[in-house]
Formats: sequence, C-alpha cells, structure tokens
Amino acid sequence: MSDTADAVVVGGGTVGAWCAYFLRQAGLAKVVLIEKGFLGQGASSRAAGVVRMQGGTPEAVRLGQWSRQFYLSQRDEIGTDSGFTEQGYLLPCFTKAEVAAAHVRMEMQTALGVPVRWLEPGEVDAANPTLAPGQTLGGTFCAQDGFITPPRNVAAYTVALIRSGVEVREHVAFRGLTAGGRGVGVQTSQGRIDAGLVVLTGGPKLAEVGRLAGLRIPAGGARHQVAVTERHPELDQARVPMVFDLAAGLYWRPEEGGLLFGMSNPDEPPGEIREVDEEYLAKMRARLAALVPVTAGLGLRRIWAATIDYTPDHLPIIGRAPGLDGVTVASAGGAGMMWGPGVARAAADVALTGSSEVLDVSPLGLDRFDEAGHSRLATDPIALPFPERIASS
Ligand SMILES: Cc1cc2nc3c(=O)[nH]c(=O)nc-3n(C[C@H](O)[C@H](O)[C@H](O)COP(=O)(O)OP(=O)(O)OC[C@H]3O[C@@H](n4cnc5c(N)ncnc54)[C@H](O)[C@@H]3O)c2cc1C
Repeated sequence: MSDTADAVVVGGGTVGAWCAYFLRQAGLAKVVLIEKGFLGQGASSRAAGVVRMQGGTPEAVRLGQWSRQFYLSQRDEIGTDSGFTEQGYLLPCFTKAEVAAAHVRMEMQTALGVPVRWLEPGEVDAANPTLAPGQTLGGTFCAQDGFITPPRNVAAYTVALIRSGVEVREHVAFRGLTAGGRGVGVQTSQGRIDAGLVVLTGGPKLAEVGRLAGLRIPAGGARHQVAVTERHPELDQARVPMVFDLAAGLYWRPEEGGLLFGMSNPDEPPGEIREVDEEYLAKMRARLAALVPVTAGLGLRRIWAATIDYTPDHLPIIGRAPGLDGVTVASAGGAGMMWGPGVARAAADVALTGSSEVLDVSPLGLDRFDEAGHSRLATDPIALPFPERIASS
C-alpha cells in the first residue's frame, strides 16, 4: 500500500504533535502524524510539567517565553488548554559561586525581557514559608514561571490535531526512509507514505528513530523519578512557589495540596528503566525534608519513574537532517513541557522555510555534535545537571 502526504511527522509526543498542528496551521493540506503506540505514551504524559522562562542560555529563555505565551493563548486558539498555572519559580543559591552565576544569568534574562528578580535571603524565606529558614544566600525568582498539567497537554494537542485536520495514525511505527517516488519515502509498519516533508521526533527514542533514518542523533533517555506527597495545610498552593535546587537537581511544585518533587540519580547510567528506585527515592525525600521540613512526616500519594529525554548539552535539537533533503529533526532535550511548543513551532518553520521567527536555530542543529556526540555549545547551566554523555559515547 502506498500513500502520499505533504508532511509526515514521526512521534505523537508534545513535540511531534504540536509540530504536526503547526504544519497544518501553516497551510499544508495533508499532514500525517504516525505514532507507534498511542498519543502521549512517551515522556509527554509522565512529566512534572515545569515551565520556566529562567533559562540558562538565550535560546532556552526564548523557547520558554514562546511556549509560555502559547500555553496562555491556547484557549482562544483551540478551545482548550494545557492547564498552565502561573505559580512563580524560585532558584535558591547555597554558595557564593551560585550567587555570582545567578547574577550573570539574571542580567542575560532581564535583557531578553524576563521579569526575574533577585530575592535576598530574608525575602526568600518570606516568599516561601515552607522552606527551612536561613538556608539560602538568596535566589532568583520569576513570578510568571509556572507549570502545566502534562496529561491535560496531551488532551489539548489531541483536540488541536483533530480540530485542525491532521491525520493521526496510532499504532503505526516508523521503519525508515527510502529515496525515490515524490519527496521522501517514509516506510512504516503499515506501508509507505511519499511525503513532501518529514519531521523526526521520538523523545527518549529519538536516537533509535534517527538510526532507522540512517542518522546518528546524540540523544538519550534516563530514568527520572517523580513523587507527590500527601496533602498538608502548609503546602497550600497559595503558600508554595516552585523551587529548583539546581546543584542537587531536585525540584518541586505544589500539586493538589501536597508537593510534587522530581529528580534523577546522577550516578545511574542512562537507559530506559521504569521501575521506582526506592533507595534513591529515600535520598530525594531526605534532601526535600532538609529544605521543606513539613514533608518529612508525610506519606506519598503517587510515585512514578519514567524515561526522560536528554541531549549531551541539555539544549534542544532543531534542524534539517544532514544529507537528507526534506527531513527535519526535533528534540526538546528533556525540557519538552517548558520548550515543547516553541521547539515544535521552530521545527515546523525550519521544515517549511529553513528558518524560524521563534529563534535563530542555526546553532541548534545536528552539526554541533562531533562523532562521539560531544557538543561544541556550552551546556545549559539551568537544567537537570545529568546525564552528560549519551549511552554509547
Ligand atoms: C518523569 C519526567 C518528568 C519530566 N518533567 C519535565 C518538566 O517538569 N518540564 C519539562 O520541560 N520537561 C519535563 N520532562 C521532559 C518532557 O516530558 C520531554 O522533554 C517531552 O515530553 C519530550 O516530548 P517528545 O514529544 O519529544 O517525546 P515523547 O513524549 O517521548 O514522544 C515521542 C513519541 O515518539 C514515539 N515513537 C518512538 N519511536 C517511534 C517510531 N519508531 N515510530 C513511531 N513513533 C515512535 C513514542 O512512542 C512517543 O510517543 C519530564 C520527563 C519525564 C519522563
């Protein structure tokens, strides 16, 4: 069976789905989204939902700003939304070096229009009454940062896909690309589609998708654990800003009267693991209890472990695939809630025109990586700080 499309997008996560939607919005008549399982079955339904404009590089800031604005505009555009809640995000500093780095970062963020401000130690304690007092040397705070509800985002993009007329084909796996015919031949588990354009996504599976297309994509997946505490009056949403303990890689935010917190184990080799690591969870809980003492005595209502995508420099990949005409690659580098819509829109733009008004994508292509997968860009300093290497390098 052979078929044609103006564009085929591989992967029904937040990057692929929003990208397919934007391609359709741009006027392509037939956009087909293929997903080997069902929409949202990858990282996108399992995330913590943190959305922050306080990025560590100008690209990160821009993608955060664009995506936040998109979340705010969704209801008008598609009639539903991803549940964006403006909660405020604090990045506390515990050492003088962190304070110095935070001030440099703030200058860059402010120049790009992020309403971030410095809180002195007393102000940090006042703004965050659940935090053990006297712990920090201050911190940066952006009241406009917040979070989305990841399953609601999957529902929102499902609505957007259907309403915009994207053809969604679930349980159809990408198998590879072939030359010949019109455009690019996309081999799937249900036959071939001749496409004008192809966008490859895959989240933690992007390297595998790339291999099928004959590309080496230095992206990986690693276990990431999230848990939600029981409710407690002190954890009322009005009293708890989101917090990122950057050095430890531990973050938390309010969730239904308790705290949702997440962290990866820096010493664990990358790879797909979905089991909960109880021992590491105990370490996460200990660090959280040291900073938010009220959590020490609370039970957990939910715990899950899922595979988070990452790139070696923790930056997104947005660019045309070298040597493959009409093929574009997109990864949110582990920040698909924060950057996903921006990455998706930029990837759609690049597929259509080669560039994007969302941001200058020229540094973000696959050509920034050497053979071993090392990037020539500096690592985004405001990201989950690990892993730093792809599994095979
Ligand atoms: C526990 C956890 C917490 C997180 N918290 C946050 C957070 O707070 N903030 C944030 O910004 N980000 C967070 N993330 C990261 C974020 O979820 C991801 O960056 C984002 O979901 C990636 O979207 P994606 O569309 O690229 O990948 P995915 O959502 O994984 O989608 C890729 C899709 O491709 C499909 N696919 C793979 N191979 C094929 C194939 N051969 N053929 C067809 N389809 C294929 C998969 O089935 C999958 O559905 C978190 C991730 C995890 C796991």
